[in-house]
Amino acid sequence: MINNNQRQPGLNCPKCGHFIPTTISELLSARGLRCPHCRLELTINRQESKRAMEILKNVDDAQKNLQKASTFKP
Ligand SMILES: [Zn+2]
Repeated sequence: MINNNQRQPGLNCPKCGHFIPTTISELLSARGLRCPHCRLELTINRQESKRAMEILKNVDDAQKNLQKASTFKP
């Protein structure tokens, strides 16, 4: 579901295949996403996605730590 090949984080619409830009933080906080192309509404089932969300959150935290580490100048 998550497309890692694009620079911009996001996912492809399951209906039209249009790329929906989003962020991991947005996925974690938003209740759903709307495809800007076909207006399909994607709702996030937190109970079912709990495991995936935890993994995403870990990735998000890791990325933030990485950003901190790379921008830190002594
Ligand atoms: Zn779509």
